[in-house]
Amino acid sequence: MTAGLHRFFVDPAILGGERVTLTGPQAHQVGRVLRLKPGDRIVLVDGEGRESVVRLDEVRSSAVSGAVEVVQPSRPEPSLTLTLYQALVPRDRFETVLQKGTEVGISRFVPTWCERSIVPGGDRIDEKRLERWRRIVTEAAEQCERGIVPEVAPLLRFADALAEAVATGPTLVAWERERERSVQAGLHEALAADGQSLGLMVGPEGGFSAIEIELVREAEVLTISLGPRILRTETAGPILAALALYEAGDLELAPLTPQPPPPCAGAGEQASSP
Ligand code: SAH
Repeated sequence: MTAGLHRFFVDPAILGGERVTLTGPQAHQVGRVLRLKPGDRIVLVDGEGRESVVRLDEVRSSAVSGAVEVVQPSRPEPSLTLTLYQALVPRDRFETVLQKGTEVGISRFVPTWCERSIVPGGDRIDEKRLERWRRIVTEAAEQCERGIVPEVAPLLRFADALAEAVATGPTLVAWERERERSVQAGLHEALAADGQSLGLMVGPEGGFSAIEIELVREAEVLTISLGPRILRTETAGPILAALALYEAGDLELAPLTPQPPPPCAGAGEQASSP
């Protein structure tokens, strides 16, 4: 079983041989932080749908190496590709959305600057912040055993985000004042139109402004209700994503993955293919 093994996304270029070596921060993480020892196993994920179970035989803080025991397909990605256009909200809340949204199965996050986004530092997202967000998403993807790292796009202003969403495919805007279209009705309509991809837009703590909802109307994008209670912005996105994946049939049982051999048996032998 690979359950419980530490997982790392790696450059696919380092995989493919019988042995593999990690250097830099990942070697430090394995050797110093996690204190793994020769004989321990880790899983290296190529981000392209395959992962390798590696039995370590050399652990130093600068480099760790081991033999590839098994190469197996990663858990499947949802058939429905979800993009969440999440209004920019203060740091913790935004990071919660990235983490929970990655667990649920969102494929792409687009930080969106809304009229009521009240964020220290204004509407600028520097490269450092984007890097931090990408790290959070990577760690969440490793933790929940995803086979890919969801993308975190650069910040867009609301009107540009809406235009991008419309150009990409069906889109639903969660609007707490919606009184006509339920989430289920909206999802049925959107999934009937495409079924491959879906854009979801969630507003900031203060909600979308009247002008923003007007733009949504002009673009003929559907607004939906998430029910009679007002959810926090960081709750709305992950919940809506889960409902969309449920409606799309993407929350079915995970397939079984092949088992690596028991300790010692066959260690260091040639990697097998799935
Ligand atoms: N301050 C606003 C609520 C904003 S909630 C008010 O009290 O009116 C933050 C965001 O979460 C909203 O912009 C919307 O996108 C989403 N949201 C929260 N509850 C919702 C609901 N019941 N239906 C649809 N969207 C909701």
